Amino acid sequence: MDVLAEFRALLGSAHILTGNDAAPYLTDWRGLYCGSALCVLRPATTEEVAKIVGLCADQDIAIVPQGGNTGLVGGAIPGEGQRAVVLSTTRMTTVRKFDPESNTVTVEAGCILQTLQDYCFERGRLFPLSLGAEGSCTIGGNLATNAGGSQVLRYGNARDLTLGLEVVTADGQVWDGLSGLRKDNTGYDLKSLFVGSEGTLGIITAATLKLFPLPRSKITALVALADLARAVVLLCRTQALLGSGLTAFEVMSGDCLRLVSNCFPNQRLPFEAGPADAPWFVLFELSSNEEQDRAQDSLETLLSEAFEAEEITDAVPASSVEQARALWHLRESIPLAQSERGKGIKCDIALPVSDIAAFVAEMGAELSHVFPGVCVMPFGHLGDGNLHYNIVPSEAFGEDEIQASHDRLYEMVHDAVHCRGGSISAEHGIGQLKRHELLRYKTPHELSMFRAIKSALDHSNILNPGKLI
Ligand SMILES: Cc1cc2nc3c(=O)[nH]c(=O)nc-3n(C[C@H](O)[C@H](O)[C@H](O)COP(=O)(O)OP(=O)(O)OC[C@H]3O[C@@H](n4cnc5c(N)ncnc54)[C@H](O)[C@@H]3O)c2cc1C
Repeated sequence: MDVLAEFRALLGSAHILTGNDAAPYLTDWRGLYCGSALCVLRPATTEEVAKIVGLCADQDIAIVPQGGNTGLVGGAIPGEGQRAVVLSTTRMTTVRKFDPESNTVTVEAGCILQTLQDYCFERGRLFPLSLGAEGSCTIGGNLATNAGGSQVLRYGNARDLTLGLEVVTADGQVWDGLSGLRKDNTGYDLKSLFVGSEGTLGIITAATLKLFPLPRSKITALVALADLARAVVLLCRTQALLGSGLTAFEVMSGDCLRLVSNCFPNQRLPFEAGPADAPWFVLFELSSNEEQDRAQDSLETLLSEAFEAEEITDAVPASSVEQARALWHLRESIPLAQSERGKGIKCDIALPVSDIAAFVAEMGAELSHVFPGVCVMPFGHLGDGNLHYNIVPSEAFGEDEIQASHDRLYEMVHDAVHCRGGSISAEHGIGQLKRHELLRYKTPHELSMFRAIKSALDHSNILNPGKLI
């Protein structure tokens, strides 16, 4: 029997996609990568995943795990001409167990992040992972990329939220590590190894995740600022006043928000002309177990102190849930608005928070000197020291110029980040996009440990080859 016939016998024809049906699984969200595969497989159970891995191992077929395909580094797309299958988890969506006393939920890898957030919310619990692609990305993809998002400041990233995993390893065995224990010092922490491994060490089929009580009140506000250094001062002031009550602190250059309102005219900046021209904005969210009135008082204290210290030039506190949603929608529309401008460059960098303002000023000057007319539109999770330092096509420096200088632009930004002790991938991972960059910035010792781990867990290199290392 040929391998396609074996897959058909295992899953049924309806769950094996080829030709046009497979096409959406073979191109990434940004349209940067286009790959090829024997077929797309859509298993419904862990046992089916294990059998697929066993068959592929026997026939030396590469397996590219895929969740929502919202990754930004080409990790879920097979290479061109690779003898590979895409293993889509989108049918594995069951919530296996909700345990409010332990504050945990056990869910299959293909569950959409927003579906899980809603499921937990309806039962009085918060699953705090939150990102712009939450309506499409999956829990498996979130864990495989160790996703960050807007609430890392308070709740941590995907790895911090993971208590246990179920994984199909490269030899087709199932590792059941779904314990859900908060304390377990019995040797190497295998789950932490699989989280962030981008499908190169195992296929995550389910996870036990941390939940939190729902906050009683939530306040969102957008403020305008004269420069980025003031945003850092405001961050420190807010943390000193509210501690862990600060759940999100998102910085956006003014150009980012004006691009959103130009691209999507129904999304207006909630400011008059003057403040709407501000060079920087911060969107922050405070969560608390106090009543809304008390939380509102804290916000008023914060804003009046910040005005007095001339940290902010204007402020719009959301007066309703709908207005808070509209402010978040502005922030979350930035990647889409930037994509509308054409193919640019996304540098997902992390730096010590105290270095960020100086980095942006110096890097901007250096890039403009080498590439006159270059347009940088940074935004990101300032509280985590994570900036999306994106270079967007402009009239003076368009898509063609960016593509022609692609390697040099990355090199300039990443070298500067590396020199300051930063990271060239804060939350999107390495995938195909930054594979060569990784070789440039990791030490030979680090790379040899990476290779030893890969070879120990996937000796034949069938799991997502050509990604990460
Ligand atoms: C508009 C927009 C906003 C975004 N904002 C953020 C953000 O704020 N923070 C952030 O961290 N990311 C962000 N991202 C990137 C992306 O959404 C995340 O990386 C997300 O976690 C990917 O999930 P996915 O299900 O789409 O994974 P995919 O794109 O399908 O896959 C991503 C990687 O994980 C692997 N993988 C997928 N499922 C599994 C599995 N079950 N087992 C093993 N490996 C698997 C794939 O092989 C691939 O290497 C954003 C993306 C978009 C388009």
